[in-house]
Amino acid sequence: MPLNILFASEMEDAGVWLPQLKQALPQDNFVLVPSEDIDVALVATPPKGTFEPLKRLKLVQSLWMGVERLLADPHYPKGVPLARLVDPGMVAAMSETVLAHVLDWHRHHYHYRMEQEARRWHRLKQHLSSDRTVGLLGLGELGSDVARKLGALGFNVVGWSRRPKKLPGVTCLTELDTVLEKSDVVVCLLPLTAHTRGILNARTLRKIRLGGAIINVARGGHLVAEDLIDVLDSGHLAHAYLDVFEHEPLTHDHPLWTHPGITITPHSAALTEPRTAIPKIVENIERLRRGQPPHNLVDFDAGY
Ligand code: NAP
Repeated sequence: MPLNILFASEMEDAGVWLPQLKQALPQDNFVLVPSEDIDVALVATPPKGTFEPLKRLKLVQSLWMGVERLLADPHYPKGVPLARLVDPGMVAAMSETVLAHVLDWHRHHYHYRMEQEARRWHRLKQHLSSDRTVGLLGLGELGSDVARKLGALGFNVVGWSRRPKKLPGVTCLTELDTVLEKSDVVVCLLPLTAHTRGILNARTLRKIRLGGAIINVARGGHLVAEDLIDVLDSGHLAHAYLDVFEHEPLTHDHPLWTHPGITITPHSAALTEPRTAIPKIVENIERLRRGQPPHNLVDFDAGY
């Protein structure tokens, strides 16, 4: 049975997605304007008013991994299942970003960039990767892939999740303070929920080991930016890598731009890659067509 599929996003380019989607699902009808007879909505930051006309919607398929904005939308159609996108290309991209930042800190490159500005030739002590412990907040689709790849480079990995977990080579804990106290570098890969908002704050950042680093590639709402600046200025942490911000894009005059202890990227840690994402979307649409539950359904009570 052909389905009517709406593509609605202010951030993802319909001109890139639609030809590939139409090729992958030739029997279905793709539209850009919401109407009553839509069966599936493919969304990431949908324009205001997208959901109201969708009266017989069967599935909302996010084009992103994080769904906190959809969950906060008062017009989200009650009772309609929401599937997250778990895109292998995006997972790989995130691991590359985190590895790049961990190695930048581990090999002192953030420091040598400043030394180059001052034309100073001064070597810092070398450490083995096995001297370092990386703490991962979140051991889901992204955290578990990052953990595996850091382990392959010889880093010690500890991780924090809501429910107890077992991952090869990873010390998995449900006690946040213990993870922070063991870690030289902490990577935030949590969903933004009522429980995780503001989790990187003055108290928690100071639990990370002296001279360490923080990498926030999850959501801006996880971090209290003023607290980070204080912790960096105190010398407790050596560097911070920030990809996400409470308000994006970061305003021109924001103090985070010019802080010498901060590396900023424009929410580019991992972008959805249509070539690897579309097979996953097709799988979910075919499951819906067959009457099977789609993969990666969001737990509305947990908020992710
Ligand atoms: P996921 O598979 O849902 O994993 C989330 C992990 O966080 C799970 O291990 C979960 O624990 C843990 N967690 C959630 N709430 C917790 C709590 N209160 N206490 C302790 N642990 C908690 O999510 P994912 O696919 O890895 O993605 C994570 C986030 O990355 C997304 O939500 C999104 O915001 C962000 N992201 C950012 C970018 C970017 O470009 N910057 C790109 C993609 C995604 P359990 O295992 O016990 O459930």
